[in-house]
Amino acid sequence: MSCRQTVIVLHTHPDDESIFTGLTMRRLADAGARVVLVTATDGAAGVPHVPLPRGESLPSRRLAELERACELLGGARLDVLRYADSGAHEGPYSAGTLGAAPVAEVARRVARIVEREGADALVHYDPRGIYGHVDHVQVHRVGAHVTRALGLTGYQATVDAAALRAGPRHVLQRATGGPLDVGVPASLISLIVRARECELLAKMAAMATHASQVGAAELDPACFAAAYGREWFVREGAPGVLDALCGTAKLPAVEAVAREPEARPGRRRPGP
Ligand SMILES: [Zn+2]
Repeated sequence: MSCRQTVIVLHTHPDDESIFTGLTMRRLADAGARVVLVTATDGAAGVPHVPLPRGESLPSRRLAELERACELLGGARLDVLRYADSGAHEGPYSAGTLGAAPVAEVARRVARIVEREGADALVHYDPRGIYGHVDHVQVHRVGAHVTRALGLTGYQATVDAAALRAGPRHVLQRATGGPLDVGVPASLISLIVRARECELLAKMAAMATHASQVGAAELDPACFAAAYGREWFVREGAPGVLDALCGTAKLPAVEAVAREPEARPGRRRPGP
């Protein structure tokens, strides 16, 4: 099918777009949608898996990886908001971090992008930011605010924790450092994007591009499809372009999503 919709895909760190919505971005782009990726932070708090050449900073490496991944996933444009990572400590957070930024301020910036693009839908996160990371929760708050204020269709990226627990190791296990207390129950999920082969290859290539963060263990072809071949969403508002592309446009929106928890900085490790 072909469509002329525009979708803003809002994420926290460079690499989240590939891990949580790589299949979806590729499907939207292949269907003719304009996909605009907005990444909130510079990813400076990540731990590089590879040595960086002298003079190259982690944020500059991660930005280059992000630009390439966005291209591979069919993104038409990338906007980076350049907030600093809030870090792995309890608040208060330093000036300039996403955790310290007022939700209304970040939401105004995202709303300007939505209006500039004439966007129809906004992808962000479930109320726990998928796994409780303070900057992911902040992106949920911003996304929910903009979705409501502008009357968009919202797609909250999430995961089906039971499905992940039953599958091979997922990068979220490294991020949470323990049991996969992530995502929402399956009963709250509105739609699932199941990978087509070309989408899976694009997602794998995009994740591999984030070589400073994603290791070979995550890219094992023997279990990649089982770990990363589905993407899950809770819809807010009327069915939109993603429902049409997944054949779920007639399903009702799920309004009652999990309560937003306190962010859990103490449990966080550098992760997606
Ligand atoms: Zn992240």
